[in-house]
Amino acid sequence: MSELEKMKEMLEDWPETFKERPELKSLLAQAIAELEKECEWQKNDSGHIDEYLTGCFQGFRVGHLDIQRSGYVFCPYCGRKIKEVKQ
Ligand SMILES: [Zn+2]
Repeated sequence: MSELEKMKEMLEDWPETFKERPELKSLLAQAIAELEKECEWQKNDSGHIDEYLTGCFQGFRVGHLDIQRSGYVFCPYCGRKIKEVKQ
């Protein structure tokens, strides 16, 4: 089970120990939402066949025809998971 899955499980089954601390539950929910945000990448019309425009507005050449082949999973600029958006 990943750390994110553990966090979700804790949120669903909020421990008795923290019943008096609803603000912690709210913080956990915010952290989960932040971790689940993705960086949407789409092909950039720059003339380079391997260049993408990242969701955080950077140009990045992946070195292959597509992201899957390049092996990139996380955006090197914002650290979020990459989601490829096809035009
Ligand atoms: Zn990014």
